[in-house]
Amino acid sequence: MRAQPEASHFIDGAYVEDTSGAPIECRYAATGEVIATLHEATPALIDRALDAAQRAQVEWAALRPVERGRVLHKAADIIRARNRELSELETLDTGKPLQETLVADATSGADALEYFAGFVATVTGQTIPVGGGDFVYTTREPLGVCVGIGAWNYPTQIACWKAAPALAFGNAMVFKPSDVTPLCALKLAEILIEAGAPKGLFNVVQGRGGVGASLVTDSRVAKVSLTGSVPTGRKVYAAAAEGIRHVTMELGGKSPLVIFDDASLEDAIGAAMLGNFYSTGQICSNGTRVFVQKGLKERFLSRLKERTDAIVIGEPMIEATQMGPMITADQLGKVMGYIAQGKAEGARLITGGSRIEGPGNFVQPTVFADVTDAMVIAREEIFGPVMAVLDFETEDEVIARANATEFGLAAGVFTADLARAHRVAAKLQAGTCWINAYNLTPVEAPFGGSKLSGVGRENGHAALEHYTEIKSVYVGVNPVDAPY
Ligand code: NAD
Repeated sequence: MRAQPEASHFIDGAYVEDTSGAPIECRYAATGEVIATLHEATPALIDRALDAAQRAQVEWAALRPVERGRVLHKAADIIRARNRELSELETLDTGKPLQETLVADATSGADALEYFAGFVATVTGQTIPVGGGDFVYTTREPLGVCVGIGAWNYPTQIACWKAAPALAFGNAMVFKPSDVTPLCALKLAEILIEAGAPKGLFNVVQGRGGVGASLVTDSRVAKVSLTGSVPTGRKVYAAAAEGIRHVTMELGGKSPLVIFDDASLEDAIGAAMLGNFYSTGQICSNGTRVFVQKGLKERFLSRLKERTDAIVIGEPMIEATQMGPMITADQLGKVMGYIAQGKAEGARLITGGSRIEGPGNFVQPTVFADVTDAMVIAREEIFGPVMAVLDFETEDEVIARANATEFGLAAGVFTADLARAHRVAAKLQAGTCWINAYNLTPVEAPFGGSKLSGVGRENGHAALEHYTEIKSVYVGVNPVDAPY
């Protein structure tokens, strides 16, 4: 199986190669075979990408908002028309099952392009009277060249969630995908050109952390948007601070999902499974601490086991497959380490717990019960299909325990009592809370983390704050009153 792109990078409207950059081997996670070999961007290529972006941004920002929107809309149409091909590439790039990628990746990218394409033409400023006929008007100015840095779990969606608002509001972007999943962002670059975007508006450079680091500190860069882990977030935030750059940080989590006795059992189990096993558990907002009220606990666990054991695991390209492998052998090793730790700490293994022998990075979906707050599997982000079920008795107790984490990305509550649902949601410390749902992230709603899970928000109207800045223009209509 091969998925070799025309070249490693997409700069100034065209594919570009320089084989002097360190090689990046892209492997299909289901078999381990190398499907593409790319090269890290050299300093000269990074320089070209930033130059191209700087040039393109000026021309692009001068367009009418509806004209920019039209290009993004066209790109979304192309993505939808090519959804199957793009989804197959996403599956090769990530190992996520085609059943998921067909509905969750390129399509959610298209949603973002459509949303911001429409939104941008509605953006206006304020007129502020300041006395005596003088007034101030405000405009929304693009920031300039933005850098996007992606994680490996949702390569197309992450590229689109960053590019769509950035471009809509008149910025240009240089995007660096994760070196583990370098393929999909190149397609977005190609499609934007086909849709009529100027050359250089959206560039893709490949590389590991070093390439990301050199983008973050370049004087031409006005903003950095990172999706990644907390340790990387700390480094990137600090490096961006040096140049007082704007940042958005979409980082990790260890989110609580709170299930009260009166919840619909099947719905709560479905949500817990989606929030732990979708994308083989490699989702930042996963509800990996599932708090189940004691009265429901044993029924919850036995039905959860039944449904988990029925998950179809296997070759991701087969549409009936529901769960694929872990992204890399390293990540599989990390997950197996956490499973061993869960067993050693005395958590009760309900199902799973082993790697699946054979080629590829496959692991069984795993459920631990009787997990306590102090256990490592209840504290650290695992980023694999490992669910920790914890018991609780009262509402106050579960809120305190749910919030006792350094993360604050997401949270969920299941109950038939809507007054309680809103009361609990109000107290949960998280950027996104779901009531009787989990992990739904429509582009219309802002998404992002509090506490160590991040800074800023993607999507929704909130994205305007993170890809523009306000200019105030004071208009004097009176004689200048100078004391000298
Ligand atoms: P990671 O932190 O290892 O890498 C993220 C990106 O940062 C990669 O492109 C990497 O090359 C780059 N990078 C690494 N060091 C850098 C540096 N010093 N300067 C600039 N760039 C650097 O994350 P990952 O393993 O690719 O992804 C998994 C993590 O991402 C998890 O913690 C997950 O929770 C998080 N994530 C968060 C969200 C969200 O929206 N909050 C979404 C998806 C994933």
